[in-house]
Amino acid sequence: MNKALIIVDMSNDFVHEDGGLTAGKPAQELVPYIIDLADSFLANDDVVAVAMDAHQENDDHFKLWPVHNVIGTWGQQLYGGLKEWYVANEHKDNVLYIPKINYNAFFKTDLAEELMARGIQEVHVVGVVTEICDFATIAGADAHGFRTVLHKRGVATFTHNVPALAGMLKDGYVPADLLIELMRMSFHTAVIE
Ligand SMILES: [Zn+2]
Repeated sequence: MNKALIIVDMSNDFVHEDGGLTAGKPAQELVPYIIDLADSFLANDDVVAVAMDAHQENDDHFKLWPVHNVIGTWGQQLYGGLKEWYVANEHKDNVLYIPKINYNAFFKTDLAEELMARGIQEVHVVGVVTEICDFATIAGADAHGFRTVLHKRGVATFTHNVPALAGMLKDGYVPADLLIELMRMSFHTAVIE
């Protein structure tokens, strides 16, 4: 056991068609890949951590973003087959659930301590969204001294659904690809195509 898979923000609000800040179909299509990967981590006695935005109703965060992942709501629950996967596996010692208040799953959480206690040296990241929570979590893992790995087929973004950002997209420019390249350059992240 020396690897951990971090599944970032795969909630109804970020993934479901009716979610408050949804990446929509590209995120929904990640589910089979993420479940297969999570199963292979458990089969190898590695760790799987579900990292999930956990906001208060009146969180200042909602001055920046549409309301999402309020604690205890449908929107904060894991999306689709991932919820079933979690219910079937949550009793295992190597399955963690990490509520988070920041984009970075390591910020003011016990994730680093939990991983270090289990001898983890390498952190794999999947989930949403590529440029924000995935990027920040990779940066957080790197700052704690973990090797970092990003699964390109396991991440998606909502940039196209956020009007303030969508207006900046020009002629096939894909910010997610730029941010993945910056992960490689900044954090030595290994990218699995
Ligand atoms: Zn949030």
